[in-house]
Amino acid sequence: MPVPQPLAEAGRAGADLPGASTLITNIGALVTNDATRGTGPLGLITDAALVVDGTDVAWVGPRAEAPATDRSFDAQGRAAIPGFVDSHSHLVFAGDRTAEFNARMSGRAYSAGGIRTTVEATRAAPDSALHATAGRHVSEALRQGTTTVEIKSGYGLTVEHEVRSLAVAAAHTDEVTFLGAHVVPAEFAEDPAGYVDLVTGPMLDACAPHARWADVFCEQGAFDADQARAILKAASARGLLPRMHANQLSHGPGVQLAVELGAASADHCTHLTDSDVDALAHGDTVATLLPGAEFSTRAAYPDARRLLDAGATVALSPDCNPGSSFTSSMAFCVALAVREMGMTPDEALWSATAGGARALRRDDVGTLSPGARADLVLLDAPSHVHLAYRPGVPLVSAVWRAGRCVVRPT
Ligand SMILES: [Zn+2]
Repeated sequence: MPVPQPLAEAGRAGADLPGASTLITNIGALVTNDATRGTGPLGLITDAALVVDGTDVAWVGPRAEAPATDRSFDAQGRAAIPGFVDSHSHLVFAGDRTAEFNARMSGRAYSAGGIRTTVEATRAAPDSALHATAGRHVSEALRQGTTTVEIKSGYGLTVEHEVRSLAVAAAHTDEVTFLGAHVVPAEFAEDPAGYVDLVTGPMLDACAPHARWADVFCEQGAFDADQARAILKAASARGLLPRMHANQLSHGPGVQLAVELGAASADHCTHLTDSDVDALAHGDTVATLLPGAEFSTRAAYPDARRLLDAGATVALSPDCNPGSSFTSSMAFCVALAVREMGMTPDEALWSATAGGARALRRDDVGTLSPGARADLVLLDAPSHVHLAYRPGVPLVSAVWRAGRCVVRPT
C-alpha cells in the first residue's frame, strides 16, 4: 500500500505515475454533497470508497462495489469530506494587530487606525514579504483541510499597490478579488468622491486584468449604496463579477444591492431585515456568514437558522484577516455555526464546502461526485459531526488536492 507523500514528494510521485488511478477505501462515512449518491443533502455513504483518476474523482460508492485500480489506500474507517471551500479571505497584508486585539479583549479603548494600519504596513512591505505571508496562510489553511481559497486585495488602495496585491494573490489562487473599495484611504479622507473616481477609473483599468471578482465594503464609514453600485457596475463593465461585504456592522442597503446586481455572494449578513432575508431567499446571491469576525470582536453572530428556514443558500468562511478575524480554520467556523448560529452539523459542513463553492460559482469543488476535482479531507473521526462535537481539536488526518496527497496521514 503506497503511503501518500507530503507536498513536494507528492508532486514528483504524480509526475512519475501519469494517469494512475487510486482507490481510497474503508472510508467510515463519506460526504459527497451529491444527494443522488447517498443519503440526505450531504449524499452520505457509509462503508464507502472513492477512486481518484488523475486530478479528478472517477467513482464513489459502497466499498464492496469498488472497481479495480492501480493502487489503493486504506482510510481505516475514517470519515472523508470534500475539501473546504473558503470564499472570503484577505491574505495579502503586512504587519500585525495583536495590540489592537489585546486592547479590545481587555476592554480598553484603542485609537489605532484599524484597516488603515494594515494599509500602511502593506504599502511599505517588499513583494517577497507579501508573498511569504500569503503563502504561509494558504499552507496553514491547507493543513486544516481548505483546498480552495479566494484572496482579496484591499490593503494597497493605490493603483500601484492594488495591482501588486492582486499579483501576489494570483500566485496563490485562481480566485482573486479586487477590493480597492475596502475603505477610503487616509490621503482621500477629505475627498471620498475623488477616491471613488480613482477606483472606477484608473484603478479598475489597471486591476481588472488581474482579478476574477470585484468586491466593495458597503457599510457606514466605508462606501454607501450609490458608491458601491457605481464601483461594481464599473467593475462589471470590465468583465469582473460582483460580490459584496454587506450588513456586517449595521442594517443597511448592502444585501439588497448585492441581490439587485446579481452578486455571487453577500458576505457577513449579520444585521438583516425581513426584506433582506426575503431578497436572499429569492435571489441568486449566496449569504456568506463569517463568524470569526463576530468571535474576534465580541459581536452578535448572524442568524443562520433564519436564513436557512427562509430558503437562502448559506456559505461559511473564516474571513481570515489581520484585524477582525485572524483565523484560517474552517472547522472552527463549523463549530461556531453549530453552537452559536442555529445550524445543524450537516448544514454547517455543507455550507463550508458546497456553500463556499456556490459563493464562487464553482461546481468542480465542494463536492465529491465523479468528475469533480479530487479535493478530499480525511478526518481522524468516524463522522464529519466531530468537527462541531470536538471543537478546537485538529481532526484533519490527510488532504488530497487535485488528486495529489498534499498533507500526509497522521
Ligand atoms: Zn472581509
